[in-house]
Amino acid sequence: MKFKIEVRDERSGPWWETFDIEGCTDEARIRGWVLATIKSFNDSLRPGESPRSFVGGIEIIDEGTKHHKWTKQNLGTKADHRGTFDLMKCAECGCTGRRYGLGELGIKRSAEFKAKKWVTCPGATAANRRPAGTEKR
Ligand SMILES: [Zn+2]
Repeated sequence: MKFKIEVRDERSGPWWETFDIEGCTDEARIRGWVLATIKSFNDSLRPGESPRSFVGGIEIIDEGTKHHKWTKQNLGTKADHRGTFDLMKCAECGCTGRRYGLGELGIKRSAEFKAKKWVTCPGATAANRRPAGTEKR
């Protein structure tokens, strides 16, 4: 969910900050995330930073960016002309790709998932879901 929250610190504010956090699917979850995030910010202040507090305002903007839930499909590492990779598959929508190096940025989506709609995760809709057991390995 993409949302704005109203915060202030000891010297100024309040002001609004925008976040895009998956898993914050309703206002109660956003509130919990905000409180935990501000607490960890305040617990690790760097020189010159002053503690922040949550003023209370929450404004939901939209659904936010949905990321694929990549899961690794192979046990051993594989290799092609680009180098070593892991076969990855999204647990939500079934999108597949190869992960070169570490992290989601290193994932190259398979040719059949190159279209722009797969940049973000369309979720587990019936249209996306392929029957179990038909994945190419
Ligand atoms: Zn996905």
